[in-house]
Amino acid sequence: MFKIKLGGGKTAEVEESMYWHTTSHIMAQAVKRLFPKAKLAIGPAIDEGFYYDFDVERPFTDEDKEKIEEEMKKIIKEDLPIERFELPRDEAIKLMKEKDEPYKVELIEELPEGEVISFYKQGEFTDLCRGPHLPSTGCVKAVKLLNNSGAYWKGSEKNKMLQRIYAISFPKASELDEYMTLLEERQARDHRKIGKDLKLFMTHPLVGAGLPMYLPDGATIRRVLERYIQDKELALGYWHVYTPSLATVNLYKTSGHWDHYKEDMFPMMKMDNEELVLRPMNCPHHMLIYKSDMRSYRDLPIKIGELAHDFRYENSGAVCGLERVRQMCQNDAHLFVRPDQIKEEVGKVINLIFEVYIKDFGFSRDSFKFRLSLRDKANKEKYIDNDEMWETAESGLREILKELDIEFYEAEGEAAFYGPKIDIQIKTALGHDVTIPTCQLDFALPERFELEYVGEDGEAHRPVVIHRAILGTSDRFISFLIEETKGNLPFWLCPKQVKILPIADRHLDYANKIKEELQKHNLRVEVDSRSEKIGYKIREAQLSKVPYMLIIGDKEQESNTVGVRSRGEGDIGAMKVEEFLNKAK
Ligand SMILES: [Zn+2]
Ligand SMILES: [Zn+2]
Repeated sequence: MFKIKLGGGKTAEVEESMYWHTTSHIMAQAVKRLFPKAKLAIGPAIDEGFYYDFDVERPFTDEDKEKIEEEMKKIIKEDLPIERFELPRDEAIKLMKEKDEPYKVELIEELPEGEVISFYKQGEFTDLCRGPHLPSTGCVKAVKLLNNSGAYWKGSEKNKMLQRIYAISFPKASELDEYMTLLEERQARDHRKIGKDLKLFMTHPLVGAGLPMYLPDGATIRRVLERYIQDKELALGYWHVYTPSLATVNLYKTSGHWDHYKEDMFPMMKMDNEELVLRPMNCPHHMLIYKSDMRSYRDLPIKIGELAHDFRYENSGAVCGLERVRQMCQNDAHLFVRPDQIKEEVGKVINLIFEVYIKDFGFSRDSFKFRLSLRDKANKEKYIDNDEMWETAESGLREILKELDIEFYEAEGEAAFYGPKIDIQIKTALGHDVTIPTCQLDFALPERFELEYVGEDGEAHRPVVIHRAILGTSDRFISFLIEETKGNLPFWLCPKQVKILPIADRHLDYANKIKEELQKHNLRVEVDSRSEKIGYKIREAQLSKVPYMLIIGDKEQESNTVGVRSRGEGDIGAMKVEEFLNKAK
């Protein structure tokens, strides 16, 4: 909500969308004053600000945008009252034809019979509009035009290309300043831009939307990250398996995905006598691995992990870099436990999450929020139907969180279709919460796959399954990490950890000798052997965000040292190779 000042010292709270939409009328009025031939299309408020589409002879230049912004400020100063009036359909069409606004005529003609047709007028400017609006143009204070782009009328390539201007407004200049700083920060952190600059990944229309390809340096980050988490899990007694990305539809009918998750899956393929699908999750495969052998109560917990490729339908407009993709690599595991082990094992999962995020990646404990995600009781058809199971699982997780003394909040409608979950949200550098790790309790899949273990009493019992992901998907985790660090990844994850920069060609042999020495200690090292000036090499190495540069000239060569520059500390002087190795370790 925005606070605005009204006449007579009164103030009011208004919706941002109303404030921004009013500003879009002011922008349209300014454009009409400056470009009287411009035809108006639509100008809605969006999540952040608003846009307006115009049919003009040529795209707007930066100079045009400056003039438009100036004109808008004049209109705000004029403090024109905004008045609403209604017209019958034929008169509304007549008015818009008089004003030569063919897009508005089209919009009116499309309105269903009997709908009220309203207009808003401010000064000489009138726009077809449902409203509501602020009482006058003077209620708007700080405005800023942002980017502009081409946009098809009604979003269809078959229609004419219009010119869209995005903009935003606030009741206070300080709020606008804050927003502009946030935008800069967001751009500087955008993993798509950093990923492109650092050559980490690429996409190609021949491959398809939402299907990024990892370039060598991006692939190194991913390989190191995946080895790291896999080693960690192996040390905790997880088994790591490989299962196929495809399975028959019947597997997902058994698991319930076909009934509850089909919309998010790729369509089915027929081959020979089988109907196959690309899997959206790995759980069903892991259920079958559990079931492949007799299990005793002594064997439990059994922890089956996999770095597995999953495939989900994402709208082509929603896919984004590595963050939202159609093929993802899950850091997935399923823990098959006895009911008496649930609490201990969920506790261990939470400990592992803390170890990874706090100890190894350096996030603070304060940046975590725990959400207990429950089913939406008013929408039961979205979930597996078993009230008793849901009650047990939901209250079970609630108990565990309380016993672990973890603060949490509850959210209805956020559960998986097969059970409730604990979602761990992390506050990002830009201040919003993202959900990456999850831990879910599942009584349903063991039932559907008729999983069993032999209890102490010699009878068959049903295990409980804990689904958990620590890094979420490799893809999203990497995008998250890039945005958090602005590409300055922790040393152990950097695709190139050390760059050796010989000052002249005569230092190349010595440079290569150092490189071999460092490689023996498993460092990822590169020599910049080009005959470029040293200043140029340093600048390029800096842009590549390499943590250490070793500069090598006559002095270093003679004294058997290296001149060290660090990403964080700058020039830290000459040292022996062993000394540098200790520092790097
Ligand atoms: Zn309007
Ligand atoms: Zn699962």
